[in-house]
Amino acid sequence: MAYDPNNIFAKILKGDIPCQKIYQDNFALAFYDINPQATLHALVIPTGPYISSDDFHEKASDTELVGYYRALNKVIETLSLKDNDGYRLLSNSGKNAKQEVPHFHTHVFGKQFLGPMLSVAKK
Ligand code: AMP
Repeated sequence: MAYDPNNIFAKILKGDIPCQKIYQDNFALAFYDINPQATLHALVIPTGPYISSDDFHEKASDTELVGYYRALNKVIETLSLKDNDGYRLLSNSGKNAKQEVPHFHTHVFGKQFLGPMLSVAKK
């Protein structure tokens, strides 16, 4: 599958669609999720064109990988999650995980008790 340059996060990166920005640097952009699933729900995306977690980890350069994860940690710090009672990071890849936007992203949830890790039972 090829990267779709017209996906919604690509449009946000180009500035064609607005977002509620939390943090930005050369490697990553963080913004609030438009449909929050927790008191705090942010998204952290790499600035490069990667579809999923595996695509990002296979194709991104070491500089991009380190830059992305340093940015993700800065977001956690910026949102005061380190000083809070913990948080959850989650990344959906592909249809079993119900990935809706085909640009790699990490969800950041926090500022409340987050319950069990998964809402569905094992088959
Ligand atoms: P996923 O199912 O992991 O691909 O998650 C995609 C996330 O993107 C969902 O939580 C959506 O609510 C969120 N989302 C979709 N469009 C926007 C947007 N324009 N701004 C912020 N978040 C968005």
